[in-house]
Amino acid sequence: PIRVQALLEQIVQLLYTEAEKHQIQLNLDILPEDLEIQGDEELLKTACLNIALNALQAMQDGGRLNIQAKPDEQRPGKCLLIFSDTGPGIPPELHENIFQPYFTTKKDGTGLGLSIVNRIIADHHGSVLINSEQGQGTTMTLVLPITEDEK
Ligand code: ADP
Ligand code: MG
Repeated sequence: PIRVQALLEQIVQLLYTEAEKHQIQLNLDILPEDLEIQGDEELLKTACLNIALNALQAMQDGGRLNIQAKPDEQRPGKCLLIFSDTGPGIPPELHENIFQPYFTTKKDGTGLGLSIVNRIIADHHGSVLINSEQGQGTTMTLVLPITEDEK
């Protein structure tokens, strides 16, 4: 079992300086506070960090990253980790490509971040949902199993 609050607070802490440098506001909203997910903490941290880093890199001229966690009303036994940015968004025709290894639109990107995320979340019996409105921002949602005793 992993406390979502502790996990996401670490992500915010890691990104705080970089976010400040680019006038990016970081918000964290976890309800209930004692929400727990099941899995490998280091791997899940890597997944969350990759998603949050992409959001920051998409907002070099400022913006806001909201990170929210809550039980999934639609899927019993699951919870949602939601990363919403106010960046430029991802064109619909690229939604499939961005999860391919080595696909990048950045000058010195590796294109590996999201393929790693996909793999980690699949190994945790979860899924990655993407919702992006061009010019509005991007929301990446991780659907993950909550701990046994919370089911
Ligand atoms: P990299 O970050 O090295 O480019 P990723 O696999 O992490 O590789 O991301 C692939 C591509 O997905 C990025 O190059 C970018 O075009 C797009 N992308 C991912 N997240 C976002 C986001 N939050 N906003 C805009 N584009 C994004
Ligand atoms: Mg990346």
